[in-house]
Amino acid sequence: MLLCACSFLALELQTQAVAQGYKTQEEVNAENRAAKKAESMMHSGKLEDAIFFLNGELAAMPRSAILHFELGNAHLRLREFTRAIECYQQAVRLRNPFPEACLNAAYACIDAGMELQAIPWFHKYLRENPNASNAKDVEAQLLVAHAKAQMKEKRNFDAKQTLERALQISPSSEIVLFALARVRSELGDTQGAIHAYEELLRVNPRHSSALLNMAECYQTSGQLMKAVTWLKKYAAGNPNAPEIGQVHNMIQALTEKSSEQKSDPQAPDYCGAISEAGRFYRWPPNRLPIKVWVSMGEGVPGYKPEFRVGFFDALNSWMKAGQGRLQYMLVNSKEQADLTAEWTGDPYDVKPTGHNVEQGVCHLASVDRHKDFIEIDRADIRILTIDRQSQQPLSDEEMKKTCLHELGHSMGLQGHSTNNHDIMFFSMSNTNWPVLSRRDKATLFMIYQNYQPLMSAQHE
Ligand SMILES: [Zn+2]
Repeated sequence: MLLCACSFLALELQTQAVAQGYKTQEEVNAENRAAKKAESMMHSGKLEDAIFFLNGELAAMPRSAILHFELGNAHLRLREFTRAIECYQQAVRLRNPFPEACLNAAYACIDAGMELQAIPWFHKYLRENPNASNAKDVEAQLLVAHAKAQMKEKRNFDAKQTLERALQISPSSEIVLFALARVRSELGDTQGAIHAYEELLRVNPRHSSALLNMAECYQTSGQLMKAVTWLKKYAAGNPNAPEIGQVHNMIQALTEKSSEQKSDPQAPDYCGAISEAGRFYRWPPNRLPIKVWVSMGEGVPGYKPEFRVGFFDALNSWMKAGQGRLQYMLVNSKEQADLTAEWTGDPYDVKPTGHNVEQGVCHLASVDRHKDFIEIDRADIRILTIDRQSQQPLSDEEMKKTCLHELGHSMGLQGHSTNNHDIMFFSMSNTNWPVLSRRDKATLFMIYQNYQPLMSAQHE
């Protein structure tokens, strides 16, 4: 999706060579004619023809910097980056300085994803053209290249600082704003990302990647109708985009999902989102304390004893949110337990029916006795020890979040929050912390508030 916003430079044909006296006027005229012809071929999209033509001309005029430059442009448009860079290098060898070739070489490196190689080209350009009208933009582009290299090394915080410097130099640069928005998203600062996209869309209201990413930000933060608004803007501006079908499907899916949403992400709790026709799922009083059994994870790929510790931390957090109304006890075997937890290294083991993006699954068995709540009979949790996407072992922090989330389901929170700072938010997110939010606690408490606080203090 990410396109480089730097369009490459066309050349102003020049007569410098004649003035310097090492070419005849005829030679220069022939060069200029060939360059013009190649440009018009490229202009009408005949890139292969232009390359064929330029190679022919270069056979006759091998020392023509302009023609090497034009050949580089044709390769760049065909996204043949290595060839393009070689051509620009040759052009600069034959005529130095050659600012346009120098900058296009930098852009070709960036388009090729080789940000570090772009940096010396930008430096050379700035050294040779310190007073150019685009010097500030180029300086900002140089910083963006730095920031992208930092992001590749997962140094997102450093990248954010680099981009903030770039923004001071070039406050309305599209590529700076776009990169800044992305790094803020990466850091979990969805609101900050939205601000950067807003700024960018003020500069260029048709920036299609920004429109799409804006929708994604609102989706991440649970504001589905706002996400739909941005997707519609994208669809209106890009009716022939290759992914337009996908965008229309998204609009439909999010609209449906949004009409199911019963809770305001800013309300003090999200009881509406986790109850069915006003009734909560909950453990009946006669099943308390809940009998818990947790597997030791023997032989499970990726399992670490720390995961079990994280599980109990998570369980204790929910007990605490119940303010003494909930309690559990450990039992020695799975058969004796009402709440079980097991570990798996196989993503297919944790594919629940509805949402298949979670790192775990909680199967809840319930009994409806037509009272004002639905009784939980048992809960069986299964947790994935490796990251679903990267296949790497889960960090202790991610594991704690997963345990908190699945245990939330097991305590009766049968649904998801629409606020991305809640542990019960509906997708794995880097915006929530491995602790219960105020709203998570308030929601759990709402379910059990009428229970008598149990005699003894809760575990730990
Ligand atoms: Zn869930």
